[in-house]
Amino acid sequence: MNATSARVAAPVMEVFASVQGEGLYAGELQSFVRLRGCPMRCVWCDTPGSWTVPADRQARVAAPTGTGRHATWATPFQVTCWLGEVEPGESRSVSITGGEPLLWPEFLLAIRGMLGERRMHLETAGGHPETLARVRDAFQHISLDLKLPRDLEPPVELAGPFDGSAPTRERAPRDSEEWAVARRRSLELVVGRDACAKVVVAGGRQPAEFEPLLEDVARIAPDVPVFVQPASPVAGTLAPTLDAIVEVAERARDLDLAVRILPQVHRALCAP
Ligand code: SF4
Repeated sequence: MNATSARVAAPVMEVFASVQGEGLYAGELQSFVRLRGCPMRCVWCDTPGSWTVPADRQARVAAPTGTGRHATWATPFQVTCWLGEVEPGESRSVSITGGEPLLWPEFLLAIRGMLGERRMHLETAGGHPETLARVRDAFQHISLDLKLPRDLEPPVELAGPFDGSAPTRERAPRDSEEWAVARRRSLELVVGRDACAKVVVAGGRQPAEFEPLLEDVARIAPDVPVFVQPASPVAGTLAPTLDAIVEVAERARDLDLAVRILPQVHRALCAP
């Protein structure tokens, strides 16, 4: 299917009901839609399987009655139906995560119209600010990851063909200067909104390295709460020391930011 005849659809990796494990709404029962595709390459990424859109992979829909497998490319209507299947009780707020959900703006705008009164959350790296500007009103909460340049390897843009909507034309930042521009623009876009910023601290990082990120929040969006998130020690990622985490939080406090240290709650809840 070429871009001109594309239907509104996005590649879905999984739909499931669980507990929000990060940021301002940690601990809340939510439903999750994880979209495939991400051009960023965070060295501590815990979902590298979401980076690409392989033709032979299926969407996992984890319903209480059993896990279903479906075609990866799904319309907003299909995903809304899957949400109804995975929820064990009343409707929950819906977190759209990835991957990088901002690759699929047409899908995001269309599913907003399907979800009625439900609160919709966006989890994004903030590397596509112009796309964020297009879709931000669709979301009641926006969670931005603020990333250290050294934690990012060069981006790899998705290659088609696409069996649904084409991804955003906005390119991912390619170096630390482009990331700084994207970060600042994304922070401008969440001023005055229900939002939070997450700062992932991996092992071996110096607290001073986080200063430019924190200063951007303090200067642009000082009311946005900051969550210092120790990187989970999975897939070869080293956990930070407690001293390093606390010092990052202290630096945020010195800038008068509302800061909390919060490990990934969902990992603590899961059996090893
Ligand atoms: S932006 Fe998210 S999905 Fe993409 S590499 Fe980074 S952590 Fe992984």
